[in-house]
Amino acid sequence: MTAPRLEIDLKKIQDNARVLVARLADRGIGVTGVTKASLGSPEIAGALLRAGVSGLGDSRIENIEAMRLAGVSAPMTLIRSPMLSQVDRVVENAHVSFNTELDVVSKLSSAASKARRTHGIVLMVELGDLREGIMPGDLEKTVRETLRFPNIVLKGIGANLACRSGVCPDSKNMAELSALADSIDATFGPMLEIVSGGNSASLNWALGGASTGRINDLRLGEAYLLGREPLHRQPIDGLHTDAITLFAEVIESKVKPSQPWGEIAQTAFGEAPPTGDRGHISQTILAIGNQDADPSGLGAPSGMEILGASSDHLVLDSGKCQTPVGAEIGFQLNYSALVRAMTSPFVAKVVKAQA
Ligand SMILES: *Cc1c(COP(=O)(O)O)cnc(C)c1O
Repeated sequence: MTAPRLEIDLKKIQDNARVLVARLADRGIGVTGVTKASLGSPEIAGALLRAGVSGLGDSRIENIEAMRLAGVSAPMTLIRSPMLSQVDRVVENAHVSFNTELDVVSKLSSAASKARRTHGIVLMVELGDLREGIMPGDLEKTVRETLRFPNIVLKGIGANLACRSGVCPDSKNMAELSALADSIDATFGPMLEIVSGGNSASLNWALGGASTGRINDLRLGEAYLLGREPLHRQPIDGLHTDAITLFAEVIESKVKPSQPWGEIAQTAFGEAPPTGDRGHISQTILAIGNQDADPSGLGAPSGMEILGASSDHLVLDSGKCQTPVGAEIGFQLNYSALVRAMTSPFVAKVVKAQA
């Protein structure tokens, strides 16, 4: 089979999503299935919809367009603030977008009027992670302005944590989001359908037993793909952590010294050269590199160890394992390695078995 390739077990992904949907439903929270890590794969989108997600979210309009073209019919949310240069495409293909800038809402309004459509807006609020979001003190004013734009419908508010700065979702910041929703509804009349409390990093909070308040949506990607929560990368009880495997092919297998020789300067990617003499080792080279995956996010099979990587070569100490040229080795991936592998045109994506 072609290598390198990602093997994606659709049934495991659907199982994972179904468990998350059920657990969150008990807490009064729906799931927006986030498809960006799979570049809007229609197969994964289908598995998510069968698992009961309430809609799909993606950060790239290109992925939303791809899903639409493939006939995926579900409410679609662009979960990154639209670029001004893309507002027509956003209005055409996404029902809702996340927004923080009135200039963008204004252009979305014009685009929606021109297309004789309405477009939904979720206003993102800054709760401390210092990525996207309107400062809480500016929310009321922004809502007031948003409500003035024709062909724009304010659907809700949301927040994103644990991405740029690793700020944990907790009862304090989630209660702040709930209180903001209450305050907007009290001022402008009940109108906020969606109060979106974050990404997979909000699962510990959401399933932890404290009051979920007004939060009625989480946007989940990593959790159903990798079966782990992103704060401490611990496996989530009852989820598969092996739904996706990366296979690469051996192109060199030799016994070599573990230490380089000659004068040492910088490596291709500025990493430290090998240190720690292990004597001679079984050194295996795989035809995959930094261009295809994040080597630091790959998990080698037990008994093997990743020693380094350049653009196109991954170097392993294969220990006592037999790794002849032409053999394939399977790796587990973290989110960073997964996203890069999904994005590399050199890595085939093989969706295994219908769910
Ligand atoms: C990527 C993203 C998500 C999903 O994050 P996961 O950690 O994969 O669950 C949710 N919301 C926003 C705004 C995102 O950019």
